[in-house]
Formats: sequence, C-alpha cells, structure tokens
Amino acid sequence: MALDSQPITRLKGVGPRMEEKLAKLGVHSVRDLLFHLPARYQDRTRITPIATLRPGDNVMIEGEVQHTEIKMGRRRMLLSRISDGSGLLTLRFFYFNSGQQNRLSQGQRVRCFGEIRGGGATLEIIHPEIKLINGNSLAEALDESLTPIYPTTEGLQQPTLRKLVKQALELLAHAEEALPELLPAETRSAHHYPTTAEAIQFIHYPPPEVSQAELEAGTHLAQQRLAFEELLAHQLSLRELHRHIRQQGGPALDGNGALRKIFLQRLPFPLTGAQQRVITEINQDLSQPHPMQRLVQGDVGSGKTVVAAIAALTAIEAGYQAVLMAPTELLAEQHYQSFSEWLAPLDLQVSLLAGKSKGKQRQEALANLESGEAQMIVGTHALFQQGVEFARLGLVIIDEQHRFGVHQRLALKEKGAADNLLPHQLIMTATPIPRTLAMSVFADLDCSTIDELPPGRTPVETVVVPDTRRPEVIQRIHSACQSGRQVYWVCTLIEESDLLQCQAAEDAEIELRDLLSGVRIGLVHGRMKSSEKEQIMDAFKRAEIDLLVATTVIEVGVDVANASLMVIENSERLGLAQLHQLRGRVGRGTTRSSCLLMYHGPLSRLAKSRLSIMRETNDGFLIARRDLEIRGPGEVLGTRQTGDITLQVADLLRDEQLLPQVEVASELIQQRYPQLIQPLIQRWIGKGLKFADV
Ligand code: ADP
Ligand code: MG
Repeated sequence: MALDSQPITRLKGVGPRMEEKLAKLGVHSVRDLLFHLPARYQDRTRITPIATLRPGDNVMIEGEVQHTEIKMGRRRMLLSRISDGSGLLTLRFFYFNSGQQNRLSQGQRVRCFGEIRGGGATLEIIHPEIKLINGNSLAEALDESLTPIYPTTEGLQQPTLRKLVKQALELLAHAEEALPELLPAETRSAHHYPTTAEAIQFIHYPPPEVSQAELEAGTHLAQQRLAFEELLAHQLSLRELHRHIRQQGGPALDGNGALRKIFLQRLPFPLTGAQQRVITEINQDLSQPHPMQRLVQGDVGSGKTVVAAIAALTAIEAGYQAVLMAPTELLAEQHYQSFSEWLAPLDLQVSLLAGKSKGKQRQEALANLESGEAQMIVGTHALFQQGVEFARLGLVIIDEQHRFGVHQRLALKEKGAADNLLPHQLIMTATPIPRTLAMSVFADLDCSTIDELPPGRTPVETVVVPDTRRPEVIQRIHSACQSGRQVYWVCTLIEESDLLQCQAAEDAEIELRDLLSGVRIGLVHGRMKSSEKEQIMDAFKRAEIDLLVATTVIEVGVDVANASLMVIENSERLGLAQLHQLRGRVGRGTTRSSCLLMYHGPLSRLAKSRLSIMRETNDGFLIARRDLEIRGPGEVLGTRQTGDITLQVADLLRDEQLLPQVEVASELIQQRYPQLIQPLIQRWIGKGLKFADV
C-alpha cells in the first residue's frame, strides 16, 4: 500500500493528541513524515579530544571527572571539571539537584554532548547532555549515523519525532514500492541520483563521513535529487494547467489589422524592434481558437502599454471587448486617459470601472459593459466584483502582474467570453525575473520579453544623500523648476500606515511651499478623491505644476516625460522593486534625469546594499536578480509563490542551476512517460493546486 494513503495514526504512539501536533507540522500521512526532513544534524558518531575543541563546535567528548563543586556567584551553579588526558573542560549547570552533583563525583567517566563555549580558564559546555560510563567505555556504542534535528512544534520533542520517523523508515525499508520511484531511469542515471527511497533514508540518517555543512546547505546529492523532483512536479503541474486551458475554446481573433494600421499611423513614434516582435508573438496566439496565456516582461519604460493597446485593437476589431486591469486606481485612470486618447479617433468607446466609481457613473459603466457598447474597459480589481458582466469578453490584459495573485487572474477569466469561450490573457510585468526562473515559475504562461528601451532615453543618474543635506536638495529642486523641468517628491510609507503616509505628504507639501516660493506645487495621495487626483495629475502633465509631492501611489505607470528629477524621502524604507518602479517615473524624455535617494541614517546593512545597487545600475533585470538574492523568490514573486505554491525541499535560488535540467526532464516525461505526471503532482503538490475550477 502506498504510504500516501496511510494515515499517521498507523504508527505506534500516535493518538489523537499526537496527531494534532503533527498536523501543525503539516504531517498527516506516513509519507508526510518521511518528507519532514531534518533542518540540522548532530554528530554523535565520534568522540572529539578536548585539546582540539573550538568554541561553537557541537560535539561529543568523553573524560573523567576531576572535581565537582557548587559555586556561589551572582547565581548558584554547579561546575564540574573533566579531563580526557588531552585537556580540561568545564561543565556548567545553572539548574541542578544534589543527585546531579553526586553523579558527577570524582573519578566518574562521562560522555557529554553540547555546544562548546569559550569559558574562563578552560572551554566549557553549559547544560550538556550527559551519559555516565560505567565499566568499559568501548562497550558503549557510538551512533552509526548523524542525529537528525527536525523542525518541530511546541510539546513535540526531538526524541519523539525521531522515534516516529524511525518507524516510518522501517515501513519504507520493508516495502520500497510504498514510495515508488517517479523519476525516469535515464534522468536518474544522467544525474547519478539515488532512488527516492534511498535519498529519504540517507537524509534522515546520513553516515558520519558526510559533510554536515553540505547537508545543512541542502546541496548534497540526495537532497538535490528531492529538490529536482519537487521542481519537476511544480513545472509539470503548471504545464498541465497550461495544457488544460489550451484545450478550452477561445475566440480566434484574426482580423485584417485595419484598426492597428490607423493606430500606428497616428502614433507619434515608431515601435521598437522588441515591441514589434512581441506584438507578432501576441497576434499569433490571438488568432488561435484557444485562450492565449502570455506574460510580457519588460523593464520600466519599455513601452508595454502600447503593446497592450495593439492587442486590444485586435480583439475589438474581431468584435470582442478587451479589458485592461491595473493594480491601482491612479494607474487605471492614467491608462483610461491614454486609451481614450488613442481609441477615440478610431471611433471606439472606452469605459472606466474603478472601485471609486459610484452611483450613476458606475451604473452607466456596468450597462455599457453588459450591452457591449464599451469596447475597451479599463479598471482595477473592481472588475472582479459581482454584478460585473461583459457582453463579449475576448481579451483580458493584466498590468503589473506581480500585484495580482493567480486566483484573481482566474476569477476574471471566468467572466468568460460568449459561447463558452475563454478570453485570451495577456499579463504584463516590470518585475522581470531571470529566464530560467521564469520558465519554472511561470511555466503555465508563454513568455515574451521587451528587451529594448525606446531610443533617446538617457539613463537616470542616481545619487544617495543623507537627509542632513536636505537644504542642498531643496536648492536643486529650485533650480530644476526654474529651468522649466518638473520634479517629483515622494514620501514613503511609515509602518504600513496609509494614513500616516498621506499625512507625511501633506506636511511635506506645506514645508516645501514654505521653502520654494515661486514654485507651483501639487499634492497627490491615496486618500484624495479620484477626481481631485485626476485634476492634479492632469495639471502636472500639462506642466501647470512644477513639483508634485506624492505618496508611493505614483509608483507604477505614471508617465510624464518632462519630469526629470525625483526625490525620494526616506528611501531606505523601500525595497528594490519599489525603488526601481518609482525611479522609472523619470528618464522618460530626452532630458538628462536624476533621482535623489534621500535617507535617514544610520542605514542598516541591507538598506545600504539596496541603495548602492540602485546607484550602480538602471537595469531592471539586474535589480530584480539582486532583489531575488536579498529577499528570496517568495517575497519577490508575491502570492504566486507564497500563497499558491510553496516549496518543501527546493529553493528556487539555491537550486536555480537545476532548472534547465528540470525542463529537459519535464519534456521527457510529457513525451515518453505521461503516466508519471499525476503521481508526481500528487506527491509534491497534492491538493495544493486546484485546477478543476479553472
Ligand atoms: P511601461 O513598459 O513601463 O509600461 P509605458 O508603456 O508607460 O512603459 O511607456 C513609457 C513611455 O514610452 C510612454 O510615454 C510611451 O508613450 C513611450 N513609448 C512607448 N513606446 C515607444 C517607442 N517605441 N518610442 C518612443 N516612445 C515610446
Ligand atoms: Mg506600464
């Protein structure tokens, strides 16, 4: 019987209370317990001579008690001095009883395990584990393998866990087929991987000669083998999701491109080569009778919006509606304006549906979507809400994907096109991730990359300044405004409080007004009415405002080419991705632009490294790479990794070098061993990934 289907209660010693504790660790079946791998190890396989000890070692020593005494210092304690002939070591106890003192009488042989510390005259161990040796020391067997230390939970001791794991390993040893091998033999031999069962046995009880450091880093072959299998399972599950969706019907959008032609003629600039290539890739997908699932990666300012507009035109021309969803109201409003400007001359109707659309305006917008009168709809997550119906939805465009979870995407998809056709899906992100990672994390999506910026951009010069030099910064703003340039002043989040952030922006505005007479100043923040925000943004666009004081609401999408100076206050509070997005608001025109990252010292080590990365490069791919290294993929990729997909053994960064081979194995399995797909997904993801409801 497969171990998956054996409940943990099958093991001796697991009653309802133990079951509950194990459940806290995510252990429900015997299989789960086998995959509950040690976090660390202890080496009780050998005895270390005292003379060779160094502080920090976790070791076993053996020796004879020379002397034991109670010492009255600030605290009462028991000290026992041990000698093994090579040197002396002190055992120190803060909690003890008289029995303890008696056991450690002079001449007694003891074996101790613990962490070595630099003490006074000798090295010492505080509260060692102690075993008394009576008679022949050689008769006292040492462990034959390293001792596992498991991640655990309150009330569940290591010895108990070890006993349970031993039972599970016994079951496995007697029935290896209980944990069937799911990697194809050729994959296994190409990498010299052990079988799953061998790897599991090995990782729980590694032989003493194995490097503990290697094990704890997770880079031993046995661990890598499991990581490989896990990454493979995820890759396969995403591909299954992709295949599943590709089997659904979608509207084939293959017009003659008449709308696109007019649009391009009116556009004041030619498309870059990269934009053209990506548009071709998108249009190829759109012409198929299956839903597209494409991710467009492109650095800040690479011109993703135009690409989105052209895709929308393809849908509209074929008689369908297109929707563009943005992560913030401000960005939705901006997109609404751009699309209105672009599409109105083509006689197309654009609607806006944001959370703040209320009353009559909202009713009208909804009616337009439902009747099909609105051909292009721009909105925020308000588009997911109940009561939003589309007449003929053909294309869903999601801007800045990293702010939406996979479930939200699916929800919008379910709004569906007419005739049971699923709409096409285009996802755009400025958080580019390395290709190998993208192939793995976004394996359910086809990827396009806009790897070229429009010509004539000058890289933004970035300067890091302490806020003690604020007067100079103010001076710089003054002269920029006087020479007709426009400036952003960004106030950053204080402890996640939107309210405080808005207040800080209001205060900054008042202060700046004081300091910068003659400069026209505007303010936008998240707590203002949409209409007010719009008004200010419009005035800034028309250059009727010189200095825009803002919260991080302007982080994504805001596009004013004449703005060439950005000051970010307390930039040490922001992450790399956010800083890069913000900085992307300048350097959009041909004027030389700068970004002043002001900070309030002293800087933490991490903040310092973030700011210096920002100073060193403008390359979004490089910044994303460093961001991954600093924060880890879970944080960077958002809910997709942390909520929808969690890795048990693999670590996307550490194991990145496995990904190309995982890709190869995944191809192989799909072509030659499709029967392995479901068991692999079942083993590693189980019920975690629902695509029944896609
Ligand atoms: P992002 O990729 O960050 O969303 P946008 O779509 O906002 O970038 O484009 C940034 C700016 O570049 C906009 O002002 C846009 O009009 C302009 N732009 C886009 N494509 C080109 C191009 N091929 N040539 C010149 N400017 C372009
Ligand atoms: Mg954009």
